[in-house]
Amino acid sequence: MQEEGARADTVDDERSCLFVNPVGQRRADFQSACAGVFAQLRVASGAEQARSLLAREPADLVVLDLERCELGIDLAALGALVAERAGKPILVLCPFTNARWLPALMAFGPVDYAIGPLRAQQTRALLDARLRTGFAPAPALASTSAEEELHALLALRGASQEALGHADDSERFAERLCAALSGWPGLVHAALFQHRDGDLHLEAEQGVAGLHLMALLKDEGRLLQSPLRHAFPGLLAAASGEFTLLDAPDKAGEPELAASLERFGVRMVVGLPIPGQGPGGPRGSLCLMFDHARAFSRAQLQALDDLAQLASHGLRMAEVTRENEILLARVTHLATTDALTEVANRRHGEHLLEQEIKRSRRYRLPLALVSFDIDRFSQVNDSFGHPVGDIVLRTVANTARALLRASDVLVRSGGEEFLVIAPHTSAIDGLRMAEKLRAAIEQVEIPGCDHVTISLGVAQLGESESGDSLAVRANAALARAKRAGRNCVELAMS
Ligand code: GH3
Ligand code: MG
Ligand code: MG
Repeated sequence: MQEEGARADTVDDERSCLFVNPVGQRRADFQSACAGVFAQLRVASGAEQARSLLAREPADLVVLDLERCELGIDLAALGALVAERAGKPILVLCPFTNARWLPALMAFGPVDYAIGPLRAQQTRALLDARLRTGFAPAPALASTSAEEELHALLALRGASQEALGHADDSERFAERLCAALSGWPGLVHAALFQHRDGDLHLEAEQGVAGLHLMALLKDEGRLLQSPLRHAFPGLLAAASGEFTLLDAPDKAGEPELAASLERFGVRMVVGLPIPGQGPGGPRGSLCLMFDHARAFSRAQLQALDDLAQLASHGLRMAEVTRENEILLARVTHLATTDALTEVANRRHGEHLLEQEIKRSRRYRLPLALVSFDIDRFSQVNDSFGHPVGDIVLRTVANTARALLRASDVLVRSGGEEFLVIAPHTSAIDGLRMAEKLRAAIEQVEIPGCDHVTISLGVAQLGESESGDSLAVRANAALARAKRAGRNCVELAMS
């Protein structure tokens, strides 16, 4: 810094300054607030005018004020100005909601920065202080040395990457990532927000005991509608996709929020957007809270960017895992369920019967199989049509299912034939259950059709009997019930 230490503690009355902002009011405010600070104070409305003024006569300090530049900021032109300064003092005043402009400008050359909004008096105090201490392009850290910080950042990267090992679940991943982040010197609280099902969700937070962001941010209802969504960096970054850097809680203009944060020892809040896949809004945000206001170098801002990318990968992995689970559940459902009646299909029924047979042997518990068939079902189809036949099948299945225990399994074993696998059930209990089914189905009203009846056969699993043999016996009993005149129950021979 060529100007560093030029004066010990008085304002330098020989230095010149050029202030750049497109808004006339901002320029006028700066001129009146800082008139006595510099020997010469010039103003420019944009990068082009600033460069031509500087070409005519250089300035000791350039103040690049980015307040109210949202519409049509030309970062390339401002960057060219930074590049031309070639390390000579340049102070960027950057609004906290547009902190992403900082790394963009830092790409052109070193800059010192202060986070706004700053009132004119605050800007003047800042300049007084900076003129005493010098303008640092990468301001020193408040509590740790740069080397320590570098070590911490490297360790942090390792720990964050480990969190990817838990990316099969977004909450678990978020918890691990927040825990890893708390290794950052000065960071007291970390949180991860993610967009899901039309709202923003706090997936995890970690740090200060008693600090609960949901309680702090949400009046009631949706997080995206929080009354603090314009002020809290975590919400701002997730909603707008902007890197948000609030280096003093009161700058957000919400005194209550600022007081709460300060009560918990939070002096600076960073909102880091987590990029989504392809175009569209961000996936969410990382919210980092520090116990002191600190400045970031370009390398540190790059590290934050890497972190956001890592969070994006982790959340995407968790999402893919969840999608796969849903898909697998759907495929399993399709493969095991009868589409018309939504009960187990024949193949799945055979599998379940084998399982229940093993279980009954292991625990020496009885197992009953009930086979039933709708009586004269072809007449239903013939008289009322196939669609009504389908309704009959569904009604019979629903009626039976409603009567069965949770441990019983209803299976559609064929066209109008069903099985009930009844664990922990003896032949006598199976007969009672079958009779209950018969009586219920005889009673049930079926829209567009007469009542229907069923015939049933009941068999209890014999010692060392196979599933096939059990089914053959139950079906033989069912055939006897048909021969006996239908709408009745028969017990299988052992
Ligand atoms: P029984 O009293 O002897 O059982 O006489 P039944 O008419 O019920 O027996 P049968 O086996 O002769 O007829 C079964 C009928 O079930 C024939 C078939 O068209 C009908 N069916 C099978 N699957 C379906 C289905 O998914 N929907 C409909 N509507 N009918 C079906
Ligand atoms: Mg039948
Ligand atoms: Mg049949």
